[in-house]
Amino acid sequence: MARAVVAGERRALAQAITLIESTRADDRARAEALLEGLMPHAGKAIRLGISGAPGVGKSTFVEAFGLHLIAHGHRVAVLAVDPTSPRSGGSILGDKTRMEELARDEKSFIRPSPSGGTLGGVARRTREAMLACEAAGFDVIVVETVGVGQSEIAVAGMVDMFLLLLAPGGGDELQGIKRGIVEIADAIVVTKRDGELANAASQMAAHYRAALHLLRPPIPGWEVPVLTCSALKGVGIETVWESVTKHRRMLEESGALAARRSAQAESWLWNELREGLVERFRAQAGVAARLKQCEAQVKAGRLAPTAAARALLDEFENKGRGKA
Ligand code: GDP
Repeated sequence: MARAVVAGERRALAQAITLIESTRADDRARAEALLEGLMPHAGKAIRLGISGAPGVGKSTFVEAFGLHLIAHGHRVAVLAVDPTSPRSGGSILGDKTRMEELARDEKSFIRPSPSGGTLGGVARRTREAMLACEAAGFDVIVVETVGVGQSEIAVAGMVDMFLLLLAPGGGDELQGIKRGIVEIADAIVVTKRDGELANAASQMAAHYRAALHLLRPPIPGWEVPVLTCSALKGVGIETVWESVTKHRRMLEESGALAARRSAQAESWLWNELREGLVERFRAQAGVAARLKQCEAQVKAGRLAPTAAARALLDEFENKGRGKA
């Protein structure tokens, strides 16, 4: 399967991602073996995170942006991170009518968010799917997420550049943008700069330019650009891409790209360890029995959380030793 993915076979890539998304234990082992085969071929793409509240125009933008890149010889994969909704429901990429034209193009690959699970689980599967797309020869990977929860932090932690999309009119609060998200953006794009909204879009951009001066840029030496575009009219898309390539050059020349990616790999490892430990902890027979009891006592205020945690961890350790 790894060979077929690297050869650029779309069906193999789709199957590989399905395997990666599977939560069955035997599939997990196969997925890990597959990833080992893909890793040497991954890592060369531009990894781009795109976030924004529902309705700001993410899918319209990603489609226009993707089609623009394809017209310039790129191959674009779009992945979604949305732990809040099942695939069939209101999933951000689940709706087949979104990005219809981009989806039809041979040089693009669109994958909706894997259904259900914790944010950690969804993020892991997206990271791995990203590696698979890179191995398959996609040179721009867009990871899209809805900017209303914790998922944008997870996405920012797996990409080289994080774009925040804002629609004209309404402040951060009105758009449901959490504090702290503006701070992690490497670029801000105000959408819908056309027709009646054109003025509001320009004003909004000016407002953010002024506000950003007060913030420390996410990377020293990088001035966070505030851009405007109309995905509907195809205006300003090229400028966004110029910013992306400029950011990329800066990252490469300063050595920040390698540093960022290795820090991301390290924190991914620690996420895996944390999730894995909690999973094993919960699953262990002795612990499972005492856990409920302790939880109830802690909730009722009869047992201090610290003491409960220590007792449970001791139990976990002793049982683990017994097994060894
Ligand atoms: P998403 O929920 O963030 O993915 O947003 P969509 O891409 O689905 O767009 C939400 C709404 O905004 C739709 O009605 C779009 O037609 C509209 N929209 C998106 N981009 C533009 C734009 O560039 N100009 C205008 N005027 N409307 C837009």
